[in-house]
Amino acid sequence: MKVAIYANEREHSQQVKEQLELKLKEAHIELDHENPEIVLTIGGDGTVLHAVHHYLDQIEKVKFIGIHTGHLGYYTDWLPDELDELVQFLKQKQSRISQYPLLSIMLCEDKTCHQLYAFNEMTLLNAFRTQHLNVTIDDLFFESFRGTGVCISTPTGSTAYNKSLGGAIIYPSLKAFQMTEIASINNNVFRTIGSPLIIPHEQVVTLKSENFSDVTITRDHLYETYQNIEKIKVTLSNRHVTFVKRRDVSFWGRVKDHFL
Ligand code: NAD
Repeated sequence: MKVAIYANEREHSQQVKEQLELKLKEAHIELDHENPEIVLTIGGDGTVLHAVHHYLDQIEKVKFIGIHTGHLGYYTDWLPDELDELVQFLKQKQSRISQYPLLSIMLCEDKTCHQLYAFNEMTLLNAFRTQHLNVTIDDLFFESFRGTGVCISTPTGSTAYNKSLGGAIIYPSLKAFQMTEIASINNNVFRTIGSPLIIPHEQVVTLKSENFSDVTITRDHLYETYQNIEKIKVTLSNRHVTFVKRRDVSFWGRVKDHFL
């Protein structure tokens, strides 16, 4: 089996990486950063996001295992003092997996469309002026939005930025995505729904505006500013990120430990 190690730059993560490399060598497990079967991340949930984007082109072939150098995260199951157990685990057949969908973002500008993906969420933000958005769900014109922007998240991303915006926590096995508003203007002239929307995976949200200048699109930790967007179509993709399951960890237990 070929494994890759993807660690963040923190000193502790780099120390854990050195220890792990040694243990993998002793166990005759091959390191291959180009074409790994398993990617071992060392850091936090943010490190997993970076690793997912790094291996996006081969996401169907790669499985992830997260080692957390802080507290246990949403995408990380192992702690640095469990490296021996982890190496033994890697030598066994990895048959139990969890798969979580990526968000599909089709961004069209200047007559060209780009297929982009996010694992937690995408946000559309305008820090400089009130952003106007026409929001369509499938063929239905839904609302005319004015405010800072919107966040559209996957089920696993629902505990991240989405939650800070007052969005609901979605159980990871539910095939849905969520749109939350970021500082919408609501008065006797402008009106938005005001509640987060939980949308089934087969539906598509389209965002259009007569003015998309200086709009920032974030995808997880990535961000880019655009001037000439024509429209953005967002839905849940049929591409997934695969994790090797260590044991049955209760999702609600994780939510409780993390937030309460
Ligand atoms: P980071 O690694 O510092 O992550 C930011 C925080 O989000 C960390 O505490 C991390 O543990 C947590 N996090 C990430 N994914 C999570 C998930 N699925 N469920 C629960 N918590 C999660 O920074 P980064 O590498 O730039 O991470 C990017 C992420 O940061 C974005 O995807 C977004 O979700 C999050 N973020 C949150 C806010 C906010 O809550 N106001 C603002 C910007 C970005």
